[in-house]
Amino acid sequence: MRGSRASSAAEPTILSCPDFACHAPPPPVGGLLSPLTGVRPPPRMPATMTITKVWLDESQNECISCGACESVAPDIFEVPQKMAVREGADFSNEDAIHDAANSCPVSVIAFEVDGSGQRDNN
Ligand code: SF4
Repeated sequence: MRGSRASSAAEPTILSCPDFACHAPPPPVGGLLSPLTGVRPPPRMPATMTITKVWLDESQNECISCGACESVAPDIFEVPQKMAVREGADFSNEDAIHDAANSCPVSVIAFEVDGSGQRDNN
């Protein structure tokens, strides 16, 4: 029958949870069976958004050289005169970049996500 689950012999074994506050059975390894096909779908790639570029955007305001970005993320930013992104900075520490951008009092730290070609933070 279309839309029905696989036969009861194919049902995953339900294990009891040792935490009595949690009665949900764990999902089977590899994910749930598709109700349409009866097979497990391939694992999904995690949805990631990667910062691919960071720069000083003075189109609205100017960097006031307060040094907050360097204090928050010294591996990424330096402020010799105005903010500069360190040569070869690793953008994988995205929390640090977000924190630095949020700490900037004049919002001039710009970053691009997934090579969008535009500023993705405001
Ligand atoms: S936090 Fe903003 S204003 Fe302060 S130095 Fe960094 S970029 Fe410039």
